[in-house]
Amino acid sequence: MSRDDTRRFIQDVVNQLKKESFSAEFQKNENGGVFDSAAEILKTTDKIIKSYIRVARDDGSISRIPAYRVQHNNISGFYKGGIRFSDAVNEEEVENLAILMTIKNALHELPFGGAKGGVYVDPKKFSQKELNMVSKKYVQRLKPDLGPTNDIPAPDLGTNETIIDWMVGEYKTITPGESYINSFTGKSDVNGGVTGRREATGIGTFLTYYHLISRWFQEAEAEKVTRKKSWQNIEALRTGEQPIKVAVQGFGNVGSIAAEEAIHCDYEHMVVAVSDKYVSLGNEEGLDIEKLITYHDVHGQLPESQEGLAEAGVEAVIAEDPAAVLTSECDVLILAAVEDQITEDNMKDISAKILVEGANAPITMGADKYFEENGVMVIPDILANAGGVHVSYLEWIQTNMPKPFTKEEVISEMSEKMKHISSRVYDHYFYAETHDTARVLCYKLALKRLITLLYKHGK
Ligand code: GLU
Repeated sequence: MSRDDTRRFIQDVVNQLKKESFSAEFQKNENGGVFDSAAEILKTTDKIIKSYIRVARDDGSISRIPAYRVQHNNISGFYKGGIRFSDAVNEEEVENLAILMTIKNALHELPFGGAKGGVYVDPKKFSQKELNMVSKKYVQRLKPDLGPTNDIPAPDLGTNETIIDWMVGEYKTITPGESYINSFTGKSDVNGGVTGRREATGIGTFLTYYHLISRWFQEAEAEKVTRKKSWQNIEALRTGEQPIKVAVQGFGNVGSIAAEEAIHCDYEHMVVAVSDKYVSLGNEEGLDIEKLITYHDVHGQLPESQEGLAEAGVEAVIAEDPAAVLTSECDVLILAAVEDQITEDNMKDISAKILVEGANAPITMGADKYFEENGVMVIPDILANAGGVHVSYLEWIQTNMPKPFTKEEVISEMSEKMKHISSRVYDHYFYAETHDTARVLCYKLALKRLITLLYKHGK
């Protein structure tokens, strides 16, 4: 969904909430205005910062790089959200992602507002020295708007703990004597971060889907749930006679970990297709994910030739078009790459019965409507990909703890919280009178929280 679609979606859901009058307190006429002001506040962005970073390249040339930080809203707490390094970054994209952070944090009951950063660089084309300079300059430029009690960035697409460590170092250098440790989350563990951060979003993405189907399988078995059209489509999967076939778009921190989780969970799953920026690999009998991860760790990409497959020790059919993964024959499609992957152009070619948004906004508004009408369930980004920011929250509170969390504690805390939120959505999805989609339900839960806060704050 584009930024304007997200705004329209917010307006539509606020309109519905206004009719439903979710709070007795809000039923009084004089408070009706809180809905209108909430829609207005959430459809506008608090602050957009655009700057240019000038960096000397290793070959002596100078690159002028657009860099953004968009602070959407801080009604729930300090601005919070990742910084991405990508050659697809633009202001509209970063603003949309900032809005999604506000909604995501509210849905997950985290005490943070929403923001996002973006730098127009392809990190694969920059040396470590150049990236170090880009990171430091980003902080120098943005410093007046960042800080542990204002806006707390974290990693995102194309950034990692090394980049965050550089950024924290620079923040500390240019703000001597000030508190700096919580100026960023996603730091390395030796620098105040938490272990398990890298895996968190992938684990959380698969877990959200898995928690929903496991509950449904159990309750459908006990004939408790009112069956919904979308789930009748996966009724056949419940028998467990055939493994559930999964395709995963994207093989970075989110996709590769989600694929690994799929092959290790209790219900039998098989990963039949994976892709990265360069290639799509398929095997109807199931791909060897562990071997592909080992290959990817060495080469930074999936094998794209027969020699590469032989080196990885993996049997697969290679499709040169990375988008082939989307239309592969599967039950579940995990979208863990970038935005706008499923559009009106390819939506009819998707065979999956459940789509899981590990990436932000991978399905356009039109395609989303089509899936809704055709009984395909979409597990939305703001529900499924919040593992990273949950772990950011743990890192944030860890600062005041006598000893750091262990990796087991991090993953278990994050998993429990995500299951709790998924269950809230599930209960409404299967048991409420209204036939809202999962995305509408997520927005309703998030917006109720934000509207209540706005009302209490007297805005
Ligand atoms: N980049 C992650 C996200 O989009 C994490 C953000 C954070 O931890 O602040 O949710």
